[in-house]
Amino acid sequence: MGKHILLLGPPGAGKGTQSKRLADEFDLEHVTTGDALRANKEMDISEMDTEYDTPGAYMDAGELVPDEVVNAIVEEALSSADGYVLDGYPRNLEQAEELSGMTDLDAVVYLSVDNDELVDRLTGRRVCPDCGASYHVEFEPPEESGVCDECGAELVQRDDDTEETVRERLRVYEENTAPVVEHYREEGILVEVDGEGTPDEVFEAIADVVDQ
Ligand code: ADP
Ligand code: ADP
Ligand code: ZN
Repeated sequence: MGKHILLLGPPGAGKGTQSKRLADEFDLEHVTTGDALRANKEMDISEMDTEYDTPGAYMDAGELVPDEVVNAIVEEALSSADGYVLDGYPRNLEQAEELSGMTDLDAVVYLSVDNDELVDRLTGRRVCPDCGASYHVEFEPPEESGVCDECGAELVQRDDDTEETVRERLRVYEENTAPVVEHYREEGILVEVDGEGTPDEVFEAIADVVDQ
């Protein structure tokens, strides 16, 4: 049976970068709420009793999309996955509770990175709109500037990777998601990995945890 891996960490910690590698190396499905929501930014959620009418409105403000929406996405994705690496969920304690009713976890890895480094990483991030690959103008540049190494598509900057929205996302992380990290730490299944090494070093450290 495939492994069930949860990757936690603040915005910019490298969850997307490492999830992609883990999915390839361990033959897992990459389940990521961020990508799923970006593909459905204009979905009409006005029927739900929510502040905004689309997921995109929350995302552009740096706020969390309502639990009802993301819980349904994850439940659906996990029900069809054997092994998976889950990235971007849970982001608050209610979602963590929901997840525990959906699946069991083999490993929970927390990538720790300093706040200043996170801001530098996020404001310099470029992403591929076609295959989801992540680059950085300085730390992880593609071979040809502005072009995806993997599929040749033109790279873009995410709408929420501006300095102002990044700061709000970091605040929302501290308020809502840091308690999730503490929750898994208290359960005794959290392994903390230093997320500030090179992408290869970080990958080695995570792979060691997954192999155990
Ligand atoms: P997350 O999914 O946690 O938000 P990403 O994987 O998208 O993070 O990485 C955020 C940014 O930091 C991207 O621009 C990526 O290229 C860059 N990055 C990822 N890992 C590292 C690393 N170990 N060192 C330097 N930059 C990194
Ligand atoms: P990051 O680079 O911050 O890790 P993601 O791609 O995971 O970015 O998330 C982008 C945005 O999508 C978040 O700021 C939030 O608005 C929304 N989002 C993603 N996952 C969730 C979730 N589990 N719960 C609520 N909102 C989410
Ligand atoms: Zn691509």
